[in-house]
Amino acid sequence: MFGFLATGIKKYYDINETLGKGSFATVKKGIPKDGGKPVAIKIVDKKDKEYDANALQQEIAIMKKVNHPNCIKLIEVFDEKTRLYIVLELVTGGELFDRIITKGSYSEREAAILIESVVRAIAYLHQVGVVHRDLKPENLLYASGDPESPDYEVIKVADFGLAKVVMPTEDHTMSTTCGTPGYVAPEVLEQRGYGPEVDLWSIGVILYILLCGFPPFYDENNSVLFSQIKKGDYSFPSPYWDDISSEAKDLVNPAKRLKSEEIVEHPWISSRHSNSSSAL
Ligand code: ADP
Ligand code: MG
Repeated sequence: MFGFLATGIKKYYDINETLGKGSFATVKKGIPKDGGKPVAIKIVDKKDKEYDANALQQEIAIMKKVNHPNCIKLIEVFDEKTRLYIVLELVTGGELFDRIITKGSYSEREAAILIESVVRAIAYLHQVGVVHRDLKPENLLYASGDPESPDYEVIKVADFGLAKVVMPTEDHTMSTTCGTPGYVAPEVLEQRGYGPEVDLWSIGVILYILLCGFPPFYDENNSVLFSQIKKGDYSFPSPYWDDISSEAKDLVNPAKRLKSEEIVEHPWISSRHSNSSSAL
């Protein structure tokens, strides 16, 4: 089914502690028996009622074509009777979600460095025809958790489980409802069909959270939340936003729908740091 014949992962890897759990999979640390570098192993239980072989096949196909310093790389796949094992490049810095919680909020400079890396990764994905559709702080992983490491601020886009390939001609034709409430663009909620710009909406939401520590759209009741999102109904409440620059607020504005190239060139990003390597 997956076009991979590899079975018997336990011959090749020791499978150790759990690194994280998502909605569909458990990810564990793997140590290659031949002494190679540790990996992350995304394990999917085929007996799970949520198990969707086609979706996983798509996730793997997309990961195979993705090659960018800010995107998690696929190493190999083991297709066994009861489980599917997706072997991935390991990152050890944890989810952006956890770093936001630890730090409370990011300085504008820290946020600019982070957002630039995410936008460069997303610009690359869009160029190769991939829309991620599930950008959120749980799916953005830091390369290292050691503040002394040069990789401490390197972020990688993970979880291509909802990603889709779009051909330029069929742009804007995807209309399956997906993503996570709070980060999804209005056209997703309205099932109007949508394209790559849905990822930029999610990046705007993430930037908002980085700068103040709370989300722009929030309500325990999903229908209230959805109506806030559809209306673009958010604000910059005092005192949390008082000291934040107008350039940052301009970049957050979801109505602007800036393209990834425009974000990278936006003065708030380009003037903040001199080192603009894509691996930042
Ligand atoms: P799901 O599709 O179930 O949401 P994810 O691919 O998002 O699964 O993985 C779930 C969690 O596992 C992530 O949020 C993260 O904490 C952890 N994780 C995923 N990939 C890696 C990786 N390559 N290295 C380290 N941890 C990872
Ligand atoms: Mg996930």
